[in-house]
Amino acid sequence: MNHSAKALVLHCIDFRFIHDIVHFMKNVGLLGQYDDVAAAGAAKNLADPYDDHDREFVLRQIAIARKLHGISEVYVINHFDCGAYGQGTFANADEERGRHRRDLQVAKDFIERRFDGLSVVKILARIDEGGQVDFEKIV
Ligand SMILES: [Zn+2]
Repeated sequence: MNHSAKALVLHCIDFRFIHDIVHFMKNVGLLGQYDDVAAAGAAKNLADPYDDHDREFVLRQIAIARKLHGISEVYVINHFDCGAYGQGTFANADEERGRHRRDLQVAKDFIERRFDGLSVVKILARIDEGGQVDFEKIV
């Protein structure tokens, strides 16, 4: 059976975001048309991995999705309050936001250099006290 997907989504394993990520992908018109990779810290696996295996794991998933499904886009979704970055790591929200922006950009550059013709969309998610999730596209 021949089948294709338009995108791959790389997001954190954090259960609090899973349902909302599906909803977000539906809103951008890609429901049922994306491959899904969960790895703690998302962009961190490319920008500042625990070790080379984590980076290679993520890159391998992208390579497979491209080869098997012909994806042309990768959505990388980081989020505030991410355990992979460590609780209490950041002095304030501005510092946390800056780190995610930097890591998302590093991940984007890494993926786009490695895979000709793939473009990366950077997303930063935030969950409020009531569990409401907001997705911000980083440009
Ligand atoms: Zn996380």
